[in-house]
Amino acid sequence: MGVQSLWASVRRNGVRLHTAEWGDGMRQAAANIPTFAWYPVPFMSDFCIAVDLGGTNLRIAAVSSEGKLLEKVALSTKLGLGPNHVIDEMCDAIRRLSSHYCNGGALIGAGIGIPGIIDLDAGVVRRSANLPEWAEYPVRFEIEKRLGARIFLENDAKVHALGEQWMGAARGVNDMAMITLGTGIGGAIVLDGKIFHGMNGMAGEFGHVTVEPDGVPCGCGNHGCAERYASATAIVRMAREAIASGGAPELEKAFSSDPEFNAKSIYNLAVHGDESAQRIFGRFGRALGIMLADLINVLNLPMYVIGGGVASAWDAFAPAMFREMRERSTIYAATARDDELTQATAAQRTRGQTIVTRAVLGSDAGLYGGAKLAMS
Ligand SMILES: [Zn+2]
Repeated sequence: MGVQSLWASVRRNGVRLHTAEWGDGMRQAAANIPTFAWYPVPFMSDFCIAVDLGGTNLRIAAVSSEGKLLEKVALSTKLGLGPNHVIDEMCDAIRRLSSHYCNGGALIGAGIGIPGIIDLDAGVVRRSANLPEWAEYPVRFEIEKRLGARIFLENDAKVHALGEQWMGAARGVNDMAMITLGTGIGGAIVLDGKIFHGMNGMAGEFGHVTVEPDGVPCGCGNHGCAERYASATAIVRMAREAIASGGAPELEKAFSSDPEFNAKSIYNLAVHGDESAQRIFGRFGRALGIMLADLINVLNLPMYVIGGGVASAWDAFAPAMFREMRERSTIYAATARDDELTQATAAQRTRGQTIVTRAVLGSDAGLYGGAKLAMS
């Protein structure tokens, strides 16, 4: 039985009535599935379940096939209890959410974003800095065993890109790239509405593009990677270096008085006029601009969307970023918007322009993207 017909039969008849049609593995899994309560809801559309699994938060949503976020559930990821426990909680929430919407339409499928390197063929997490205990964990098998239905896995940064392309900043633009600024830099390329994986799923590692040939060592083995200058971790490192050099009294004061001294504290100093903090964001913008100039020269895409928590510091780093892009990419200089610093939507774009702009969906991008993934 295919995913769609399986879920359609679940919708019509409830899980237990149909277990006899399933294969042996499915039947065994179904024994653990509680009978659902069906809630009548004034909603008539097929829908997807999206999961954004992070090291801290586990977010699950029902999203209609038209891109309406119907309902979302936020849980904390109890990493200490192990992957099986987290998957149990995830699957319970998926079943509860599905049961709310099954009366109005069929569940198309479930798409799940996970941080780290995912072996898409095997459905296994190979390596994840956010989920260190999950290395080599057969995550797809474990979820499918519990749900009795096929699910779609993808790296979380790629799922975010799919979400912004489908319903966010790049809505209506089929070809785009997304750069996610967090503790590191995540990246993804979407071509013709689909994630471009490269040979083995590693395309889009923008964070490890070299921006300083003899720069700071990176965990990847290279020196001077973009994410060593344009990430939350990099901001704090550059601030510590500035403090150590003795020329940053305001940063030093904040560092010694604020136990949570982080990228946001440094941003606050920058917007209040502290020159040392502003220099850090200037360096951040320059590194990001060098990286983007390279991407633009290679890919010539119509849209590059910048998301992630550190994108909130846009006003502090964007001027240096755009300056660098104009200097280093003749393609960008020839196709840039005059008002590049202001937020742009895909609808405002005129043909032939390169837009570099901020993401609009925030953390919901992973939920829209997970749903789009399930429909692919
Ligand atoms: Zn690197």
